[in-house]
Formats: sequence, C-alpha cells, structure tokens
Amino acid sequence: MTKQKVMIIGGGIIGATTACRLAAASADVTLIDPMDENARASAGSLAWLNVSSTADPDYARLRLASLRLWHQLLKAHPECPVRFSGALLFGEDRDAISAHSKFMGGLGWPALVLDANELSKMLPGLVNAPDAALFATHEGAAHPNRITAWMLDRARSSGVNVFQGHVRALRIKGGAVCGAELRGGDRISTDTAVISAGNESRTLLAEAGVDLPLDRSPGILMRTAPVKYRIPYVIATPRLDFWQDISGAILMSSSLSKTPERADGLIAEQAVSVLTDMFPGIPELKVTRIARRDRPIPADGFPLVGKAGPKGLWVAATHSGMTLAPVIAEALADQILGCPDRLGMAAYRPDRNINAKQERAAL
Ligand SMILES: Cc1cc2nc3c(=O)[nH]c(=O)nc-3n(C[C@H](O)[C@H](O)[C@H](O)COP(=O)(O)OP(=O)(O)OC[C@H]3O[C@@H](n4cnc5c(N)ncnc54)[C@H](O)[C@@H]3O)c2cc1C
Repeated sequence: MTKQKVMIIGGGIIGATTACRLAAASADVTLIDPMDENARASAGSLAWLNVSSTADPDYARLRLASLRLWHQLLKAHPECPVRFSGALLFGEDRDAISAHSKFMGGLGWPALVLDANELSKMLPGLVNAPDAALFATHEGAAHPNRITAWMLDRARSSGVNVFQGHVRALRIKGGAVCGAELRGGDRISTDTAVISAGNESRTLLAEAGVDLPLDRSPGILMRTAPVKYRIPYVIATPRLDFWQDISGAILMSSSLSKTPERADGLIAEQAVSVLTDMFPGIPELKVTRIARRDRPIPADGFPLVGKAGPKGLWVAATHSGMTLAPVIAEALADQILGCPDRLGMAAYRPDRNINAKQERAAL
C-alpha cells in the first residue's frame, strides 16, 4: 500500500507533534521549518498545561482530552520535558473559585478549593495569601526551551523528514495543493499540506486565497538564574504566572499590550517584585533571559483546526498551543487519514462562524 504523503509547514510544538502523530499512523511526512527559536512562539511560552483557564465547557473538554494525551506521553516517555506538579490559581472571590471547582469536577478533572490557611500550609513561604485558590492537581508545565526540540527529535526517529527551510508560497493547481516553493527557489511537491506556521499561518493562507481569522498579541517570558528555594506548583495570579523548573530557575510570564521593547527591563523588575512580595524569603532573583513573542490568537479565542480552502490543505493555529498540541495532532491525523471526528473538532473548523461565541481572554 502506498503511504499517504503529508507536508507540514512549521515545526513549532503543533507541527512537530502533528508530524509524530502522522508518522505513527504510517504516513510519509516531511516537515519544513527554518529552525530559528526566535521565530517560534513555542520557545517563548510559559507552557502551563491546563484546563482550568477556561470556563467554556466544550473547550474545557478539548483541553482535558489534550492533557490526558500529555499524561500518556509522559508515561510512555519519562524523559519528555513535561512535569505535572499541579497548578494553583489565586483569586479573591471564594464563590467564583467554588463555582469553577464544581465546573472542573463535572468534567472529571479534580480541582480543589483552598482557603488562605490551607494555601499557607502548601506554600510555607507565602505571605498575604489570597482568600481562596483553586488547586488543579493534574496540571503542570512543559519546558519551553526543550519540548519542541524533543518532539522534533522524536519525529526524526519516527521517520519524518525534518527539513530546514522557509516556505515562500504554496503551489496550487486546479483548486488543489500541489506543493510548496521554498525561499531560494527549491520546490517540494505534495497533494496534502498542513500549515502550522504559528503567527505566519495567516500570511501563507492569504496567498492561497484563504482569510484565516488569526490575530497576534505580544507576550513576554522571563527566566531567572536558578535559586535555592522551592515553589513546587505552577502559580497563576492576576498579575503574574510562574513556575520553577528542575534547575531552580523561575519562569514568569506577563501579558503585554504593545509595551515597547525598551520597557522589558522594567517589566522584569516588576515581575521580580511581585514574586518577592509573595515570597519574601526567596533569595535575590536575577532575570537572565527575556523572550518576547507574539501569541497566535484566533479572533474568537478558540483553535482554528481543519480544512482550509484548496483541496488537500489543512491548518492548525491557536493560542494555548502547548496545552492543545497533542489533541490537535490527533484531530488532524484523523481528518487527513479520513477517520471519524472522535474529538468534536468540527466546532473548530477554520471557516466557522467566528462571531458565534467568544472565549474569555485566552490564556
Ligand atoms: C508569552 C507566552 C506565554 C504563553 N503561555 C502559554 C501557556 O502557559 N500555555 C499554553 O498552552 N500556551 C501558551 N502560550 C501559547 C503557545 O506557546 C502557542 O499557542 C504555541 O507555542 C503555538 O505553537 P505553534 O507551533 O502553532 O507556533 P510556533 O511555535 O510559532 O511555531 C511555528 C513555526 O512555523 C515556522 N514558520 C513560520 N513561517 C514559516 C514558513 N513560511 N515556512 C516554514 N516554517 C515557517 C516558524 O519559524 C516556527 O518554527 C504562550 C505564548 C506566549 C508567547
């Protein structure tokens, strides 16, 4: 039997995970990416793997399906740079936190309501604990600087042809994809292509006559030098989200709305002061790395996954791509290989009525 040939354009977390999934289903996969970490949202992501940041039931179920796949992957590959330590969401409104805990419980995803006392026991160095917090016991984080490279290595060893290059344009003939032209003039032919080029997906699709409702929004990831102090959970607060990796470095993320790059130093100082106000016993924090990346944000906040325009063309673009990569890879493989829609992905078709509902600020 001839293998289905698939070309994947973009090797961030979504493209790399999709390549692995398609190769596991015996497809003949070529992945093209410039291999530049500075051009990847995935390398500047806080990479909190979560369900708890949404209150939309269908979307929460999709995130949950993905988290389950991450758990399975870690079980099969303990060296995968992902850890499930649990996540704490700080809040002041106990009723809202209780309601969210109930919502999560209804999905079959444990999330406990903690009061300030309980929280102080879990985080002994914490001062001014909030009135309430949600403890999402099964959530965690992926290491943003290692997870995509790990997934690309896995793709290579599953037989994927990982090719360093930059697609200049898709080639379309008679309403169907027939290949791609790279910068430098090389041509690769295919009758099935997946665009997983993050923020660049919109431009690539525009040239193929498809208007992808994808925006971008700036974000910043800060990393400190390792410290001898232990923050054992992912912590999400209204001002800052952070977690500590196994080296002791703390990763912190805050949203920016068009803050100029020259303000990066100031933003880092503010992040450090939020952290030291919460944990006064923490040793001096030195921010050693600041990464600015745009987040790909679908116009209604929900993933854009599925067929797009010409025959043989597929797209996957989303925020929360770290959380969602495994479920998106699964869904794309199902669709490309002609399997039934087990995951309810029809709701996330790129050509849906985008104004039907809006996700709260996408995390
Ligand atoms: C500050 C920040 C914090 C975040 N926090 C979280 C979080 O806590 N949890 C979470 O789940 N998500 C989070 N996200 C979102 C998440 O990181 C993204 O949704 C995800 O990384 C998108 O992955 P991707 O593979 O689609 O895109 P990318 O990682 O951007 O990869 C796209 C790839 O395509 C390549 N490419 C582009 N154009 C072309 C072309 N023409 N030809 C070939 N290749 C091309 C690029 O070079 C790149 O390697 C965060 C993002 C940011 C910026």
